[in-house]
Amino acid sequence: MLSRTIDTKTEKQLTGLIDEARRIVVTAHTMPDGDAVGSSLALSAVLEKLGKEVKLVYPDPPLHNLNCLKGLKDSLIASRYKAFAEKLFSEADLIFCMDFNEPKRLGSLEAALRNAKAKKVLIDHHLNPDVAAFNVTVSRPAMSSTSYLLFRVLCGLGWFSLIDTDIADCILAGMMTDTGNFSYNASDPEIYTVVAELMAKGANKERIYRALFDTFSADCLRLNGYALSQKMEVFADCHASLITLSRAELNRFHYSTGDTEGLVNRPLAIPGVEYSAFLREEDGYVKVSMRSLGDFPVNEICKRHFNGGGHKNAAGGEFNGSLEECADLFRSLLPQLAKEFFPEKKADT
Ligand code: 5GP
Ligand code: MN
Repeated sequence: MLSRTIDTKTEKQLTGLIDEARRIVVTAHTMPDGDAVGSSLALSAVLEKLGKEVKLVYPDPPLHNLNCLKGLKDSLIASRYKAFAEKLFSEADLIFCMDFNEPKRLGSLEAALRNAKAKKVLIDHHLNPDVAAFNVTVSRPAMSSTSYLLFRVLCGLGWFSLIDTDIADCILAGMMTDTGNFSYNASDPEIYTVVAELMAKGANKERIYRALFDTFSADCLRLNGYALSQKMEVFADCHASLITLSRAELNRFHYSTGDTEGLVNRPLAIPGVEYSAFLREEDGYVKVSMRSLGDFPVNEICKRHFNGGGHKNAAGGEFNGSLEECADLFRSLLPQLAKEFFPEKKADT
């Protein structure tokens, strides 16, 4: 039996808003990952079963391997059909925002969300939700994924029976994505209660695992091999690691979005490395990605130096400058960060 997720007042607000709405838009953050797509697809399918006219709108295309989830091909991609996406936002009665905490994370759709006359509901697990931007906020940063939170919300609203095999696949895919297939943020015993329920609904864990975690193009495998063998710098004394990839290097391996997903985690496998940065050169800026173990707050580092933020152990940002400048800045921070965060470890390294 799951513990309660939302209180009676929120339950009433949500059912009231859904009852009143005819046209509903469900959306998720830019570069939607398995949790964004899993939670938004699952919610859309449930709302359709309730007789609603639902449109799923993403700012840009989800990663290709998420096509294993049923219904994704019916979604609208705003980067391809901007005017239509904006029309859907402006005509909606209700907009569900999944897996992000502030309108900015909708990228080019931020203004469409802000200007929409629709009621807005946030269902998310990131820190610091922008409560003022939504009529109802269901934010649970302690939960490992929005998909897991959504399952609990659906149960709270009495819609467990509406979850079919396809919806179960979507929720499980989201849960697996944000826990690295239950290898981190996965200590809450109740997530396994939910997994058991989803399996009982017919979810196909093996199929999802293969599609999401074990399917790569040859170029992608070669790019990651190159990055680890040629580009990984390990700063043992400072417990840090850095990987940079320039546009030229990415082009050499015919980079496409998602090919470096997970690369930033790899150096954390090295004993003594407590945080890792991956810098990818984009057009006109550098995308920063950081991961850490334990108490090292990469969100703080990204906020302080790289115009970003995120979670304590997974954060990111953007640097306006060249790849080398960004790498030099990161390297220059290391001695100070070592003093600040690992004073006692200094002696034994
Ligand atoms: P990733 O490294 O996978 O791109 O991002 C990891 C996490 O860092 C995301 O879930 C998000 O919370 C945060 N993040 C990534 N990029 C940015 C950014 O540019 N700004 C902010 N505020 N957070 C980011
Ligand atoms: Mn998520």
